Amino acid sequence: MLTNSEMERLLLQETEAFIHSDGFAFCPRCGNHRLKPVATDNPYSRQVAGVLICEACRKDEDHRLRTASKNISLKKWFFFAAL
Ligand SMILES: [Zn+2]
Repeated sequence: MLTNSEMERLLLQETEAFIHSDGFAFCPRCGNHRLKPVATDNPYSRQVAGVLICEACRKDEDHRLRTASKNISLKKWFFFAAL
């Protein structure tokens, strides 16, 4: 079982790899959307600083912040659900 900080480290590595890749990656949070090929066109997660996610997930995070709903636990992120 990975700890939260281990999961955050893996997500940061994945973002780093994406930035240096040919621009194909799925959103690590939902897995439903592709990230935009130019890394800097994607929003950063509020939940995990430095991790790129898709627009839909960023909107969902913003909504959770505004409504004081809890964030999705990292275990539930697509990236870890798929492991
Ligand atoms: Zn997403």
